[in-house]
Amino acid sequence: MTDKRYIMERIAVFPGSFDPFTIGHESIVRRALLLFDKIIIAIGVNSNKPDFFPIEKRMQWIKEVFEFDEKVSISNYNGLTIEFCQKMNAQFIIRGLRTASDFDYERSIALVNQSMDSKIETLFMLTAPEYSAVTSTLVRDIIRHGGDASKFLPNSHDLKNFRIH
Ligand code: ADP
Repeated sequence: MTDKRYIMERIAVFPGSFDPFTIGHESIVRRALLLFDKIIIAIGVNSNKPDFFPIEKRMQWIKEVFEFDEKVSISNYNGLTIEFCQKMNAQFIIRGLRTASDFDYERSIALVNQSMDSKIETLFMLTAPEYSAVTSTLVRDIIRHGGDASKFLPNSHDLKNFRIH
């Protein structure tokens, strides 16, 4: 019998906080577009991590970046990433790797996810060298201190008119 997974659409979830979505994240999605039929960028709502930008704003910014890419959709979820993937019928999770410490952290998450559902594969993509120092934390720090972080953000992000509460 043919394994149904060979004829199904290849759907990947790119989970993260994306607080905010940076050019590093954008580059991962654009490269991954060559591999998948559909990519769902999914903002995990994590009660341990307070938000900097409201979730609606983060989703809107990401929507604008991929306005013309039909294969990309934006969503958010509470709870376990693996359960969200199951709900979306996604067979893949994409994660980006910048450093060796990213690898250690990501490896343990991927192994736990694999033990919960071995049919869902986590794929790691190495960051392009020019983006390896770009992090959402750095962008938030620049903004918090009134600096201009626009060079780390996709072109469509308009943070100028955004007030931090
Ligand atoms: P999380 O809170 O889940 O780590 P992030 O929004 O910080 O969420 O990151 C989401 C994913 O994007 C992670 O796999 C992370 O390693 C990856 N990532 C973050 N910054 C970059 C970058 N500059 N280049 C490539 N991948 C990145």
